[in-house]
Amino acid sequence: MNIILLGPPGAGKGTQASRLVSERGMVQLSTGDMLRAAVKAGTPVGLKAKAVMDAGELVSDEIVSALIGEALDKLPPETGVIFDGYPRTAAQAESLDAILAERNRTLDHVIELEVNEDALVERITGRFTCANCGEGYHDSFKQPKVEGTCDVCGGTEFKRRPDDNAETVRTRMAEYRAKTAPILPIYEARSLVSRVDGMADIADVNAAIEGILGAR
Ligand code: ADP
Ligand code: ADP
Ligand code: ZN
Repeated sequence: MNIILLGPPGAGKGTQASRLVSERGMVQLSTGDMLRAAVKAGTPVGLKAKAVMDAGELVSDEIVSALIGEALDKLPPETGVIFDGYPRTAAQAESLDAILAERNRTLDHVIELEVNEDALVERITGRFTCANCGEGYHDSFKQPKVEGTCDVCGGTEFKRRPDDNAETVRTRMAEYRAKTAPILPIYEARSLVSRVDGMADIADVNAAIEGILGAR
């Protein structure tokens, strides 16, 4: 099964993907995570992407589609994939069709997380992750069970993203509205889209997604 999680920054794509990974053994492919790894490693892609990401704008379609193709090639063909944060433009949606077809994969669901824009700023400015395993947390909505200790790996160091500030969030939301939301009709025409209330509690959003994906 191959699915896309679609929604504006802070909608909960990463949070839900991580639950599907542990519950269903699917693999999460996040272009944001891949780009941050490239920036950290100082690769040519990372050097190109850094300023664009810091400004909250979109990295080029060619770069992100190449990252997705390479990542898929490292997976066994039967592994289910969650595309998180990709595609973000019509050109990327078109590339994804080709990338999947070349690998005999089909797209099964596009799940849109619907959220109120005012909530996104609060979600993003309160977001932090475990520096060791990447598990996502929130100052108000998802604190570690033991303060200062990651629930998943026991790590005690956490980090925040440089682009998770109120100014950049506005640009990222505008990019979503202008370039990403318009790809939904492409998938609607293929009857692939399901909508989920992303304002519900994390567990309820997860249950709604599980209902859409059906039996394991
Ligand atoms: P969020 O979780 O807030 O939606 P991501 O981690 O997915 O953000 O992305 C962070 C940044 O990385 C984006 O603002 C953009 O600069 C870049 N990026 C990630 N994925 C893509 C993509 N598919 N196309 C273009 N740029 C991307
Ligand atoms: P995205 O990957 O779409 O950018 P994240 O999954 O990183 O979004 O979620 C953004 C922040 O909001 C994180 O700090 C996360 O813990 C929190 N969060 C995610 N889903 C919910 C929810 N349903 N209710 C409240 N907070 C949430
Ligand atoms: Zn951890």
